[in-house]
Amino acid sequence: MQFEYRTVENLARAFIRKTQNTSLLSFYADKASRSGYEIIKDTLKTFENYEKIHAEIFYIRLLDNFNAESELKNILLDNVEVNLSTLEVSDDLLNLINIEERAAEFYQDASVDAENEGFLEISKLFKYVATVSLRIAGELQVLYDEVKADVVFVKEDVNKWLCSKCGYLHLSSQAPEICPLCKQAKANFYVEK
Ligand SMILES: [Zn+2]
Repeated sequence: MQFEYRTVENLARAFIRKTQNTSLLSFYADKASRSGYEIIKDTLKTFENYEKIHAEIFYIRLLDNFNAESELKNILLDNVEVNLSTLEVSDDLLNLINIEERAAEFYQDASVDAENEGFLEISKLFKYVATVSLRIAGELQVLYDEVKADVVFVKEDVNKWLCSKCGYLHLSSQAPEICPLCKQAKANFYVEK
């Protein structure tokens, strides 16, 4: 499929990546919650919202700048690789790290294409989105390392854990197995700064 501008194709591919990632983050967030990681669920939900807003930004640029409808019919099945055989939350996080790192490369290339084609505002948007993808990948890497080392609820340099259900503040380097006040599971404890 040939496009008049590479930027049309890049915007469409970016839109598809972002909508796909929105769903994937939503599924993974639910799984993290079921697996006892409310903190990871919240982080993934935050990233899900970022992805949704990025998708909309790309979608609006397509409709505003190009007669996109006819050109886009053939691009909707983009083959962005996603590993669907993940079992553990740690696998999900690794999958997302790979997706975000590959996406950042794609957005950087798309930024150069847009600049070369004279779409300077779109070029900047791609560049900014690339920086968000890299930051997300970095945050996910921290979570991944914590899950692999089984230290999500153990932190040497932390001594305050807040129960998000009842507000009980637990003073220790580890979250309690169950909240002594409301008896909810460890999953509901957050680091209180
Ligand atoms: Zn509690």
